[in-house]
Amino acid sequence: MRILIAEDDATLADGLTRSLRQAGYAVDQASDGATADAALSAQTAQTYDLLILDVGLPRMSGLEVLKRLRSRGSMLPVLILTARDGWSDKVAGFKAGADDYLTKPFHLKEFLLRVASLLRRGHWPPAQKKLPTYQFGNNLIDLESRQATTAQGTIQLTELELKMLLLFINNEGKVLTRGELLKQVWGVSPATETRTLDNFVVRLRKYFEDDPARPRYFKTVRGRGYRFIKNPR
Ligand code: CA
Repeated sequence: MRILIAEDDATLADGLTRSLRQAGYAVDQASDGATADAALSAQTAQTYDLLILDVGLPRMSGLEVLKRLRSRGSMLPVLILTARDGWSDKVAGFKAGADDYLTKPFHLKEFLLRVASLLRRGHWPPAQKKLPTYQFGNNLIDLESRQATTAQGTIQLTELELKMLLLFINNEGKVLTRGELLKQVWGVSPATETRTLDNFVVRLRKYFEDDPARPRYFKTVRGRGYRFIKNPR
């Protein structure tokens, strides 16, 4: 079994390589996205049984490497490594065709179990994967179907609502300014349409807050913007 590790953190890459070799696998390393892409598009690429892919890579992002791999029709199993709470990364990773993910920092034992499980499965169509779910309070959000199960029942989120929600989830506990939200969700300059943004926050509160008039999860930070708190006291 031959594994390619695409990871720019040399200490982590060396540690993983050592453990995998001890477990009996052959391992190659790529320290940036372009090198990984070259190794995967080369004739010898078929010899790989698994790709371990960091999302944040120099020269070409991990997601781009993955998209290019899938666009060539490869069904190579891919385990993506994401930064802590990198929810957008995970969702984007699954959409781009990842089979599994691990959030850094992770336990070596779990890493080796995931590797073994992916290798057992072998090359299968990525269509069988599913996006993860996210839970806070009484709410469960299925990121694949964009359906949320809340105290009020089942709600179908629009793409923009989910995008905004993911931005909040990804920046849990941090203040997001109106400007940042507008730019990230709508891609418009902060000067325009802040009312649209406020209306969206009102909608998220209506869906997910127990009492929308006294929000606990989607807090207003006066004069600055909004903050999402996953576990309010
Ligand atoms: Ca990295």
